[in-house]
Amino acid sequence: MRRLLIAGNWKMNMKLDSAKALAQGLKEKAAGVSEVDIAICPPSLYVQPVGAIVNGSNVGLGAQNAYFAKAGAFTGELEMAMLTDVGCQYVILGHSERRHILGESSEFINLKVRAALKAGLIPIVCVGELEAERDNGVTNDVNRRQFDGSFSGVSAEEMKKCVIAYEPVWAIGTGKVATPDQAEEVHAFLRGLIVEKYGKEVADVVRIQYGGSVKAGNAKELLSKPDIDGALVGGASLKVDDFMGIIEAVRAL
Ligand code: PEP
Repeated sequence: MRRLLIAGNWKMNMKLDSAKALAQGLKEKAAGVSEVDIAICPPSLYVQPVGAIVNGSNVGLGAQNAYFAKAGAFTGELEMAMLTDVGCQYVILGHSERRHILGESSEFINLKVRAALKAGLIPIVCVGELEAERDNGVTNDVNRRQFDGSFSGVSAEEMKKCVIAYEPVWAIGTGKVATPDQAEEVHAFLRGLIVEKYGKEVADVVRIQYGGSVKAGNAKELLSKPDIDGALVGGASLKVDDFMGIIEAVRAL
């Protein structure tokens, strides 16, 4: 049985005071939740002050991105070891906003996935098709390509530690959530890809989150599906009650 992981992607939102207040509120309200794993991923600059608040609690800490190289002349970048140094357990990699706005390729993301694993981080690796790709019937091809590219050279033991977030791009921040059946179809396909590459024993432990307009009102139905093992949440992770609403809706599943 895979433990659900509910992770909040705060993106480039909030100023320090509200980020700290959100972390504090979540820490207090989530204190009694032991059934699911919880994580928050603040903007990089706020990872440390937010981490100081949730340190020692059941709210895990992640970053939204980092670079693959070891420390050196990479202006503006962060090394994976800097994230673990300030208490991160997770790092989101390959988010569609980085793939499509910042032009990151699966090959580039793969370098980061491997660096994250070497640093002892759990990479949350995002894949997902554009609306036009779904309309053109190439959803599986796109997700296969992103999966193959992003996990190239990752060993079976490393793969077990990875989290995949299936995030159909057309559902991110649009309020247009995938139906549970649409999501489950791709999740089952992705798990099949893990079976093909690593075998069933590995596929059985890898968590595949769904992301795309998840809210308290739709979380239970989505996460009740057999291959949906949690949620990566954007907009609804920015308010304590919204995020807690999702956690409360699924903690008994
Ligand atoms: C996301 O940022 O990964 C996301 C899924 O956003 P939202 O929940 O706002 O659609």
